[in-house]
Amino acid sequence: MEILSLSGRVLLAEGACREATLWVQGGKVVQIQSGLDPKADICTAGFISPGWIDLQLNGAYGFDFSTDGRTVAEVAWRLPETGVTAFLPTVITSPWEAYPCRLREIGEALRLSGGARPLGVHLEGPYLNPVKKGAHTAGFLRPPDAVEALGLADESVRLVTLAPELPGALDVIRRLKSRGIVVSAGHSNATCEEADGGFEAGIGFVTHLFNAMSGLGHRDPGLPGAALASGVPCGFIADGVHTHPSVMKLVYRAKGPDGIVLVTDAMEAMGMPAGKFRLSDREVQVDRHSARLADGTLAGSILTMDQAVRNAVRFTGCLPAEAFRMASTTPAQVLGLEDKGKIFIGADADLVVLDEALVVTHTFVQGNPVFGSGQHPNAT
Ligand code: ZN
Repeated sequence: MEILSLSGRVLLAEGACREATLWVQGGKVVQIQSGLDPKADICTAGFISPGWIDLQLNGAYGFDFSTDGRTVAEVAWRLPETGVTAFLPTVITSPWEAYPCRLREIGEALRLSGGARPLGVHLEGPYLNPVKKGAHTAGFLRPPDAVEALGLADESVRLVTLAPELPGALDVIRRLKSRGIVVSAGHSNATCEEADGGFEAGIGFVTHLFNAMSGLGHRDPGLPGAALASGVPCGFIADGVHTHPSVMKLVYRAKGPDGIVLVTDAMEAMGMPAGKFRLSDREVQVDRHSARLADGTLAGSILTMDQAVRNAVRFTGCLPAEAFRMASTTPAQVLGLEDKGKIFIGADADLVVLDEALVVTHTFVQGNPVFGSGQHPNAT
């Protein structure tokens, strides 16, 4: 079986980047040695990170997963150019009768996809607070119901975003968690106490911290205050539009890289020129910076994960290693993945090679080159 070697500043399992050389065989990392090897198949003056895992992606490259789940496979082929090696296709609140078809389509794509690996569906809704609906259609939102939720969440569902303060939500949280599904608080008007109740019931993630949720007041900290004070990792859209760069710095100081998950929340306009696009049944106007409904409400982003990593470094002053952890190690922990998100002997060889400016030059999924000129020796 072919052996591939890569050398550079590697994010090792201890959480820091060190000069090292890796050998990959059979889709796994089989050997790690300290020090650079200029004769490695790929030797970068930059970095080697575990593959990036996007927990919230609505679509990209002109495809919207909430409209057609089969397009997950198309997007999966192109995502590695952004350093993403695994992702959760995200379905926003949809007409109740549309869910079975959408989940069936995506379930099929989970089995067939090449390129970045779709790991399961992120259902964002339908149990969201209408007061914080963001770009979701109010008429499709539903009151939480545990029996209904268990019927909805088939084996393709990996993560569900809901508002924990809604009547019946705590029961839904407990039941979904007992089935191994990660539950996230989002599109929520929860008070701090209601959010804490959700965390106690088993919520393991927070969806796009600060966006579409109660505000952070010093006497009324809401969901963001509860999230910042908790040990629960928070998804963060680091595009400088959904939140001010200084707010990301504040979150970084409060939570550190183990408490932040870089998500793109990208929609179909990601990787496309500006213009008119869709997010589920909504029309979205996209310029060079943002995607918005006609009333100005943000409707997903056009952020790529590699840009999110560069922004995290720029906004917070963190080390590249810390930004890589926010894009790989922490999301892998949220999903309970043991073989991804860290580089160690026996880990999946999902790898991103970057130059010194943090531009992605090569991407590997389980040892297969899926972006860049994987065969060129000494490529930078
Ligand atoms: Zn959202």
